[in-house]
Amino acid sequence: MSSMEKARADFPVLTQKIRGKNLVYLDSAATALKPWPVIERISLFNSYETANVHRGAHYLADQATRYFEESRAAVRDFVHARASEEIIFTKGATESLNLLAQSWGRVNLHANDEILLTRMEHHANIVPWQMVAQQTGAKIKVVELTPDGQLDRQDLARKLSPLTKVFAFTACSNTLGTINPVAELVSAAKAVGAITVVDGAQFVANHAVDVQAWGVDFFAFSGHKVFGPYGVGVLYGRQELLRSMPPYQGGGSMIAKVTFAETTYNESPFRFEAGTPNIEAVIALKPALEYVGKWGWAAIQEHENELVQKARAGLREIAGVRLFGPSQGTAPLVSFVIEGIHHSDVGQILDQENVAVRVGHHCTQPLMEVLGVTGTVRASFSVYNNTQDVELFLKAVAKAKEMLS
Ligand code: PLP
Repeated sequence: MSSMEKARADFPVLTQKIRGKNLVYLDSAATALKPWPVIERISLFNSYETANVHRGAHYLADQATRYFEESRAAVRDFVHARASEEIIFTKGATESLNLLAQSWGRVNLHANDEILLTRMEHHANIVPWQMVAQQTGAKIKVVELTPDGQLDRQDLARKLSPLTKVFAFTACSNTLGTINPVAELVSAAKAVGAITVVDGAQFVANHAVDVQAWGVDFFAFSGHKVFGPYGVGVLYGRQELLRSMPPYQGGGSMIAKVTFAETTYNESPFRFEAGTPNIEAVIALKPALEYVGKWGWAAIQEHENELVQKARAGLREIAGVRLFGPSQGTAPLVSFVIEGIHHSDVGQILDQENVAVRVGHHCTQPLMEVLGVTGTVRASFSVYNNTQDVELFLKAVAKAKEMLS
């Protein structure tokens, strides 16, 4: 038994019976389960510590503000940022990317500037850029993929040019599991003077982030993908860039002085955090990040890799299964279809077997287009899964194939 097997007991969702049977939760790429320390932290705050932040003059308000800022420091260390001021709390990766596209993009993009994306992006890293492209006259360019689902470096070299003002790419594909070489991509973008935006939503649950070593300008992720609460996300931004950016939303906390004639703004990060934030979620993000630290990246990766390789090998033995993405070195997920069978039907049979997966386009419709499918079945693994989960999953897929063929 690997030491990670003990992780299971930390997640109460897995202790219950659903339809009288254990739950095989293979949907962590959509949302990770929450361990006790996170659940308890949210409950503690709501039960005994409730107060608004950055404004009160009483004990609980001071305490809440301190916990809130401690969480910011924990995120700073988690992504290895230089300063806490570089960490902006948002409601998720989606909001982080919208903030960036609107705040940085509206000021810095002009007609015929180019925004470079990749074919494997989640809609959250496409649509905000399209919106700002429409507002500014900038153009979207797309780096295509190799047949095994890696970024096509030759295409990248063709499309990166002095016209490229921003290169926004995912560190890890939520559909293919492809891990991109972030440092290498950042340095290629820098060579043409483009700023870099990394979507870390799928990366943060199993990999160390080092924004300084990478030299990346912006990095976005969501708390719920890394065992944390919903409604909290992060935008890391290099301080020099954040200082030059206008606010995204107006309201309380983001101002220095307001008159009806004009408003001056607070410093970053507060300038980008208008209104009352999701305080309990921000505070409970800290124990989530500490939770991954408890196991360490090496143990997490070894455990998840073993599960994903076993799943892949088992799927290859089922005739008619078509696997997508690289066969090794991926995030802990498998994406596949069974020829001639609709992915939703497969999902339904798996659900009847208590195997929870995601089916559909996974918010990557432009990727589906080149894969030539309307959707896939995606099973994703995390610290709390075990080999028995993989076996039950494979058995359920074989059953789905038998029933639906
Ligand atoms: N980027 C990627 C790669 C994702 O997988 C997701 C969520 O699935 C997002 C962005 C958006 O995250 P959220 O919905 O938490 O804002």
